[in-house]
Amino acid sequence: MKYPLTALAMSALFATSALSQSFYDRHVLFANSAADDGAEYSYSMRVEPSSLETADGKFPVEHEHFVTPPNALRLQWTSAFGGDWQITTEIPRRYARQFKFEGDALSFWVYSDQEITRLNSPLVFLRDRDGNGTGTLRLVKDGETLPAEQWTRVTLPLAAFHEGLYHGTDDPKFRSEDMVSVTFMQGLDDGEPHTLYLDDFQVHDLGNHDTTPPPVPAHLEAQGADRHVDIAWQPSEADDLLYYKVYRSRDGEDFEPLGIQQGHVTRFEDFLGESDQTAYYRVSAVDLAGNESEVSETIAATTHEMSDDELLTMVQRACFRYYWEAAHPSSGLAPEVWPGDSRLVALGGNGFGVMALLVAAERGFVTRDEAIGRMQTILDFLDRAERFHGVWPHFINAETGKAVAFFGKYDNGGDLVETAFMIQGLLAARQYFDRGSAEEQQIRETITRFWEEVEWDWYRKSEDSDFIYWHWSPDHGFHISHPLIGWNETMIIYLLAIASPTHPVPASLYHTGFAGTSEEAVHYRQNWSRTTAGDHYVNGNRYYGIKLDVGCGSGSDLFFTHFSYMGFDPRGKRDRYTNYFENNRAIALISQAYAMDNPRDFKGYGEDCWGLSAGINTGGGRAVPRDDNGTINVMASLASMPYTPEASMKALKHFYRDLGDKVWGVYGFHDGFNESQGWYEEVYMALNQAPITVMIENHRTGLIWDLFMSNPEIQPALDAIGFEPDAE
Ligand code: CA
Repeated sequence: MKYPLTALAMSALFATSALSQSFYDRHVLFANSAADDGAEYSYSMRVEPSSLETADGKFPVEHEHFVTPPNALRLQWTSAFGGDWQITTEIPRRYARQFKFEGDALSFWVYSDQEITRLNSPLVFLRDRDGNGTGTLRLVKDGETLPAEQWTRVTLPLAAFHEGLYHGTDDPKFRSEDMVSVTFMQGLDDGEPHTLYLDDFQVHDLGNHDTTPPPVPAHLEAQGADRHVDIAWQPSEADDLLYYKVYRSRDGEDFEPLGIQQGHVTRFEDFLGESDQTAYYRVSAVDLAGNESEVSETIAATTHEMSDDELLTMVQRACFRYYWEAAHPSSGLAPEVWPGDSRLVALGGNGFGVMALLVAAERGFVTRDEAIGRMQTILDFLDRAERFHGVWPHFINAETGKAVAFFGKYDNGGDLVETAFMIQGLLAARQYFDRGSAEEQQIRETITRFWEEVEWDWYRKSEDSDFIYWHWSPDHGFHISHPLIGWNETMIIYLLAIASPTHPVPASLYHTGFAGTSEEAVHYRQNWSRTTAGDHYVNGNRYYGIKLDVGCGSGSDLFFTHFSYMGFDPRGKRDRYTNYFENNRAIALISQAYAMDNPRDFKGYGEDCWGLSAGINTGGGRAVPRDDNGTINVMASLASMPYTPEASMKALKHFYRDLGDKVWGVYGFHDGFNESQGWYEEVYMALNQAPITVMIENHRTGLIWDLFMSNPEIQPALDAIGFEPDAE
């Protein structure tokens, strides 16, 4: 099990050099909170008799006063003698996301009901990602005041923090480009209650005196869906474009600011919460100096109740857009996470993306010619990317094609699991692009070449090995030495290795390796699952009354039931251990039953809110309830659609109709959320968006299953393993 989101991975990433990030990410520290009550990524402390308003210890979110819609932070305090308080807003220190701020000043907007003088103003200090802090500054400069009842922009030169009042008057370790947080703390103990609203924290240059606004956004389009409106426009071409500001009117006359969108995205989702609602929209563009363009033309749209079929199409299309619109231009591949480093691309998630592209072409989200063009870009890139005995690395730099040793120095070679996920997608594409044009012929030939060049047998390590191994490095050989032992997401590696026309492994490895019961295999399962249940591959226990044939513990991360079964069709067949369609269904039903039982009383869990899988903020090992931290991964239940259509559709409607304003965005559902923590992730992940699109399609038409299974190499491999027909 290689959980991609561990603390280890995070430290490995932050140790790498600065990677590319958007203009917005280089300048914006805080604009809005996704949570309504307490801002995510904030924390506080208080010592009586001082008082400080918090939302469960977090920075309270203010909805009436703001600069960037729809909200701001609210700072409400009384500084008393002998007491103290501090409250901090921090950037999301998130997996695979680098923050390098550019500028020599920190600014934010403040609004107060009363005048704030230098003497009763709070103090401010900053920290960088390594915890190095600055000295403290007063928020109000000498001889100045913050006037009452108006927004004022406070600009603090970063150099001034080095001459702060208190601790560490000049800390040479603090690196402003690596700033992660702004902390407000008690100043003079005036004993008076105060309230400040704070918004739009940015890093920029003091010397920016630009007064030219960006061009007005043009060519707006708006589509009303079931509960929301999707608004899109043409980019406003300005080098210093920071964000777009969206205005809404319900009567076509009075427009209110609704929200902002980062400058490199030209799409916005507005949740109206009900069907048959009409709204009118206008969009402006705002640059780094704060200049706002005129507003665009007005566009209107009306929501309408959608059938289940229409909802499925809507979700499939939106999740596909992640690969279509957020892809790195020179590779055609989507980033590991977005917002994040656009150059960090993972092979596996993009193999799933290739399958989503086929769904998109079939359903007319893009034309066949557009899909062909994207396939050519992807295949050209994969051809010039590093391979190791025909095997791509886990992560590739989308500009250079070089391996990124994301999981540490030994992982700088081939990753057979990620490669197999890509090959699974490419083999489906080889069958889809079956026409006689030179372009489609070329696509087929290139895919066949990649497929035949993968040296599955090399990754067996030795000719008498019982296993296939995950990694090989030209510098470190088989140092990582991670054998592939199921049951987990890696079944497809054995299937493809046995099916390979050029570098196969014996079919017996499926039984000695993936399903093996040697001491090594049993210990491997025990080590990651920390249970003896299922440690001999087969399980046989019942959980919530549901029998589990195969798998460790009481179910598993649901991605185990998806990643190998997006192309491989498990229906109507069984090996000597189980029918994997039925086994996957059992795991999904156990997952739902667990959420209904909800032994740890997490907020939101229930019949329509279930599904645990690897993603941002998930618990780690994912044995339930031990490793569950209350985070729902949206993909987990939605990609289970073929196994549990009723339970998955319930989850889809709940996520969309009840939680949509928090969890739905420009690329469909965000990765996950945790209602217990008041936490709503804003990112999308390549490994989680496409499985939703693809598995919904397999549920609806079986398209990707049929394509993959029609490859002539697959059935003989299944026969050799001993798969036999099984009644549904
Ligand atoms: Ca705001």
